[in-house]
Amino acid sequence: MHWPPLIYHPCYSELQLPDRHRYPIGKYRALYQALLAAGVPVDSFVKPQLATATELALVHTPAYIQSLITGDIDPKAMRRIGFPWSDFLVERSLRSVGGTIQTVQLALQHGLALHLSGGYHHAFSGEGSGFCLFNDLAIAARVLQQQGVDKILVFDCDVHQGDGTALIFADDPSVISASLHGEKNFPARKQQSDWDLALPNNCADKAYLTAVQESLDYLLALHQPDIVLYDAGVDIHQDDDLGLLAISTEGVLARDQLVINRCRDLKIPLAAVIGGGYQRDLDALTAVHLQLFIAAFASRQLPIQIHT
Ligand SMILES: [Zn+2]
Repeated sequence: MHWPPLIYHPCYSELQLPDRHRYPIGKYRALYQALLAAGVPVDSFVKPQLATATELALVHTPAYIQSLITGDIDPKAMRRIGFPWSDFLVERSLRSVGGTIQTVQLALQHGLALHLSGGYHHAFSGEGSGFCLFNDLAIAARVLQQQGVDKILVFDCDVHQGDGTALIFADDPSVISASLHGEKNFPARKQQSDWDLALPNNCADKAYLTAVQESLDYLLALHQPDIVLYDAGVDIHQDDDLGLLAISTEGVLARDQLVINRCRDLKIPLAAVIGGGYQRDLDALTAVHLQLFIAAFASRQLPIQIHT
């Protein structure tokens, strides 16, 4: 068994944010370093290209793309996104979209690929929201469609509803949007996915894992997708600053194992992105994001050494 491709670029953590900004921008680098320290070979990492204007236009409106590239965007629209505008912010977002596009390509080739970023599921075609400028999952799905892939499941387990993805594909039966999210969490106004499961506050491992397993089995059997795009957000964790659920680290690992092993057993390519996760303690947050990779390597019996 070989190591699955891991898609990463140093720019992911190089964005300068105001002090006390709630976005844990350092987590991407911390995760990369934790994987290297665990013995993952450095040549497993792939540096992505920037997404192209043509790729962005598969999902986003020309006016919105233009406003972000030039910085002409309405300050109110930028506040909805939650980051101060900068050239570098846009470049970083383009790199991250490029990373998810590359992740789906490598998943088709290798059966499994994981992106150390991605999951910008609140971005709509004409506006951004909730730390999301461009919807990488939606753009990657559209790129796949153009290549003739006809059934795509976006299985979104971030604690926040994948509202952008839901609306973008509302009238497209070839992309199935599925979201398991906190009922009382952002966004206040939910969109309708093809499959929504709203979880109550303080939902714990047992109920959560049952929900994940039943949803996944149902969706895989019903739609028989050619690929699964998995948003492995860890803001479901009990220590998350924004999550409101009560999932343990073992629960996160069990969820990720369930998704990865199910797709492996059914021979469905799986492209995973790390999604959301908001803890001020970067080491604690990294340990939770690491679970996805532990699950991925275990599914292929690849040895790693986690130092805690
Ligand atoms: Zn989230």
